[in-house]
Amino acid sequence: MAMLKVENLHAWYGSSHVLQGVNLEVHKGELVCLIGRNGAGKTTTVKSIVGLLPKVTGSVKFEGTELLTLPAHQRFAQGLAYVPEERRIVPGLTVRENIRLGLLASPLRQRESEVIEEIAETFPRLKERLDQQAITMSGGEQQMLAIARAVAAKPRMVLLDEPSEGIMPVLVDEMFEYFGALKRAGITILLIEQNVGLALKIADRAYILDQGELVYSGLAQAMLEDEAIQERYCAV
Ligand code: ATP
Repeated sequence: MAMLKVENLHAWYGSSHVLQGVNLEVHKGELVCLIGRNGAGKTTTVKSIVGLLPKVTGSVKFEGTELLTLPAHQRFAQGLAYVPEERRIVPGLTVRENIRLGLLASPLRQRESEVIEEIAETFPRLKERLDQQAITMSGGEQQMLAIARAVAAKPRMVLLDEPSEGIMPVLVDEMFEYFGALKRAGITILLIEQNVGLALKIADRAYILDQGELVYSGLAQAMLEDEAIQERYCAV
């Protein structure tokens, strides 16, 4: 059974009908990539899944539970985590305090010191900066923190919206290594990425959205080798 099953998803902004019947599945332990040009509807798809848009129809099941009838906070309580495009860390708090906020959101009762230690091991850059104010970090480091905070809550599935956007290449590589590690740790991932080459290298499968509709789905490896399809749908 799919961990996340999206069927016939439609979404509107006012009278503008943006998603037009999207169907996709993510299985437990998979890393699935959602790609497509700017404005194709990727962010809208993920926001519809986590409950941040007012007008959505169809079905979104997470481990068999229908999410569309639940408010966003109850969807997160099912074990979903979402890292939006605009990294919403709290700039006036330190790195440690931001991670603590992620823990507050977790339904599990975990020891804070253990979680901070785990995160520090995985993200050496954050370890060095635990008591630094988040606002003083680079954009890439702030994005790492946003991801770390989401993962602190020990979700079963993470939805990431263009995490590498605007980040210097060395940090992008680090970030992608980390996604591989998350996957090996058993966390299921739905990843929106413009950095198609890198994303397809670590993904199991991929979907391409175009003008609010899915136009392609297949194994990531096959899509990586299909230059024509990448040129047709992925050029920004
Ligand atoms: P990007 O890579 O640029 O983020 P995307 O694939 O994530 O693109 P969406 O942000 O989902 O695309 O946008 C899909 C369509 O919905 C676009 O035509 C966009 O202009 C429109 N749209 C997005 N947000 C709003 C909004 N708040 N109000 C009205 N239209 C919107």
